[in-house]
Amino acid sequence: TTRRPWRLRALSQRALVTWLDERGLRWRADEPFAGAELDPPTTALLVQGYLLTLAVVALPLSVAANSRRHVLQGLVASERLFRQGFSESLVGMVLLRRCRDDAGHVLGGLDVVELNGVAARLLGEPEDHLLGTCWTARLGEGDQVLLAEVVEATARGRSAGWRGEVALPGDHGSRFLELALSPLPESVGPGMFVAQMIDVTARREAEERLTAQALQDALTGLANRTLLRDRIGLALSVLPADGPAATALLFCDLDDFKHVNDSAGHTVGDAVLVEVASRLRALLRPGDLAARPGGDEFVLLRAAVGPGEAEALAEEVIAALCRPVEVDGHAFVVGVSIGVVHGRAGSTAEELLRDADAAMYAAKAEGKRRAVVYFEAHREHARRSVRLEAELRRALAEDELRVHLQPVVDLRTGATVAAEALVRWQHPEHGLLPPATWLDVAEQSGLMPALGTWVLERACAVAAGWTGPEGGRPVTLHVNVSARQLEQQGFVDTVRQALDRSGLPPERLVLEFTETHLDEVSDGLLQDLVALRAAGIGLAADDYGTGYSPLTRIIELPLSMIKIDRCFVADMLEDVRARAVVTTLVRLGQSLGLEVVAEGVETAPQARQLIALGCGAAQGYLWSRPVPAEAFTPAVLRRPAGVPAARRALPAGVSPPASG
Ligand code: C2E
Ligand code: CA
Ligand code: CA
Repeated sequence: TTRRPWRLRALSQRALVTWLDERGLRWRADEPFAGAELDPPTTALLVQGYLLTLAVVALPLSVAANSRRHVLQGLVASERLFRQGFSESLVGMVLLRRCRDDAGHVLGGLDVVELNGVAARLLGEPEDHLLGTCWTARLGEGDQVLLAEVVEATARGRSAGWRGEVALPGDHGSRFLELALSPLPESVGPGMFVAQMIDVTARREAEERLTAQALQDALTGLANRTLLRDRIGLALSVLPADGPAATALLFCDLDDFKHVNDSAGHTVGDAVLVEVASRLRALLRPGDLAARPGGDEFVLLRAAVGPGEAEALAEEVIAALCRPVEVDGHAFVVGVSIGVVHGRAGSTAEELLRDADAAMYAAKAEGKRRAVVYFEAHREHARRSVRLEAELRRALAEDELRVHLQPVVDLRTGATVAAEALVRWQHPEHGLLPPATWLDVAEQSGLMPALGTWVLERACAVAAGWTGPEGGRPVTLHVNVSARQLEQQGFVDTVRQALDRSGLPPERLVLEFTETHLDEVSDGLLQDLVALRAAGIGLAADDYGTGYSPLTRIIELPLSMIKIDRCFVADMLEDVRARAVVTTLVRLGQSLGLEVVAEGVETAPQARQLIALGCGAAQGYLWSRPVPAEAFTPAVLRRPAGVPAARRALPAGVSPPASG
C-alpha cells in the first residue's frame, strides 16, 4: 500500500499519453469528462486522478471486500467444520482454562470452557451443567495433584502436555479415562488446554480380572501359590538382618475335609472352603496375606511378628475354624491342623513353605486340631526319611525283606481258610522291623510299587506250594496292595505275571485294598478292578469302617470281601457304637453276598460275639500271630491247638492265643 501511490505519482502526464498512444487509445469528446472544457494536461490530470482513485480506493476496496467475504465464508465453514469435528467426535473433547480464584489468581485446576456430548456423557452430567465448572475436581485425588503439576509445568514451558489414565470416581465405583491433555498456544488463549478422552473402564476391568486370575484362587478369592511365594519373598527381603522380628507363616490344613466332600458333594465342599476363607480373612491385619495354595490348604502370612504372636494367631485360626460351618441347613465341623514357622532374614520362601508343611504334618500326627511350631526335629524327621529310603533300597536289593503270614479262620468250622501276607524287614542291626516304622517312607518315596511287587511274587510262590488239608482245598492267599501300587500303570499285568510265574490259581488270591484307597476310584482303576475280579481274583475292602466312604461305594466296586477294622472288634464288647458298626457291616456283607472277615480278634469273648452276630471269618492273635512264611506249613494250617471249632457258639475253656 505504500508502494502503490508512489507508482501512480511517478506516472507523469506525458508518460500517460504515451502509454495511451502506444495502446492506440485517444481521448474522445464523448468520453468521460469530455464535456468539460479542459486542456489536455488537465484532462490527463483528471484521468490520472480517476485512475489513481480507482487504483487506490475502489480496486483495493473491491478486492478487500471480495477476499473478506471469502475469508469470512472460509472462517464460517471452518468454524462449522471444527464445531462438527468437536461435537461429533467419538472422543470426549473438553476445552479447558486454568481456574482462577475471585482475586484472579490462577489455580492448579482446569475449568470447562466448552465440551462435546461424548465428554458430557463420560463425565455423567448434561453439557450445560458442566460448563464453567472445575473439571479436574471430578478426578481422583491423586490425579488432581498430578494434573496440577502438569498444568504448572506447562505454564513454565517445561511440559508439552500429558497422556495417561485417570480415574473418575463415582457412586458405583470408578470409571477410567485415557486422557490426552494438550496446551493451546498462548495466542489462542493463555492457560488453555484441550483434553481428549476415551472410556477405558471395560479394558481396565478386563486387565484387572486377568491379573487377578493369575494371582488369585478362583474359588475363594484368596491369593494363589504364585502370589503367596512372591509375598513371602518380599516379606523376608525387608526383614532387618538382626532383630527379634520374623516373618510368620501358618500352614493350615483342614482336618477331615474329604469327609465333607464325600458325604455332601463338591458343591457343598466348595461352599465350606469359601466360608473358611472368609473366616481367615476376618483374622487378617493390614499387611497380612491369606492364600489358598490348593485343595483344603490355606496359608496365612504375617510379614513381621514379635515373640508369641504367630502362636496366638494360630489359636485364633483354630477357634475360628472349629465353629461349625453351615451350608444348606447342614452344619459341618472342619477342624484344622496348623504348622507354624518363623522366617528370618536369609531364609527363602521355599524353605519356609517346606518347614511349615513339615510342622503341619506333625500337628496331624499329634492328633489334629492343633498348631505345631516348626523346630529342627521336624527337619530331622524329613532327613530320617531320606536316610531310611536309601536303606530300604539297599534292603530290597540285598534281600532283607521277609513275608510273614497270619491265618484267617472260618468262625463256623475253626479251620484256617486263608493267610494274609504281611511284610517285615529283617534289619541287620535293628532286627525284625514291622511295617509301621518304615512302610510310609517306602510309599512316599516311590519305592512302593517295586516293594509291593516283591511281596506279591514271593507270597504267590509260597502259596502255590500249599496243599489242602486231607480232601479239602488249599488255603487262599491275601496280599495287601497300597495306593501307589494301584495307581501304577499295568498293575493288572503285574498280578497276572505273579500268578503265571508261581502257578497259583487266581481263585486262591485275594487282594486287600484299604478303604481310603478305594475312595477315589478313577474309571481306569475301576476297569482294572473289574478285570481282576473277572479273572477270579478276590477283592477285599481292608480296614473297613475307618474311612469316610459312603456305603454305596461298596456296591459300586467289584468287591468280594469286607474286612472289619480291628478297632471296632477291640471295642465291640464295651462300646455299643463299635458293636453297632460290626453288626451293620456283617449284615451288609450278608445282604450283598460279600464275605466278611473280622480283624484283630484277641479274645474268646470277641470271637463268640462275632459268631453270635453271624460273622463268617476272623483273624487275630487269638489264633495266631503272623509267622514267617517258611514256618507256615500245611501242618500248622491244620487247626492249631486251642483254636475254637466254632459253630454258633464257642465251647467253654478256649486256650490262650498262640504266639507268632
Ligand atoms: P493290615 O492289613 O490291617 O494287617 C493287619 C495288621 O494287624 C498286621 O500288622 C497284623 O500283624 C496286625 N494284627 C493281626 N492280628 C492282630 C491282633 O489280634 N491284634 C492286633 N493288635 N494286631 C493284629 P502289621 O503286620 O504290622 O501290618 C500293619 C499294616 O501294614 C497292615 O495292616 C497293612 O496295611 C500294612 N502292610 C503289611 N504288609 C504289607 C504289604 O506287604 N503291602 C502293603 N501294601 N501293606 C502292608
Ligand atoms: Ca490287610
Ligand atoms: Ca486290616
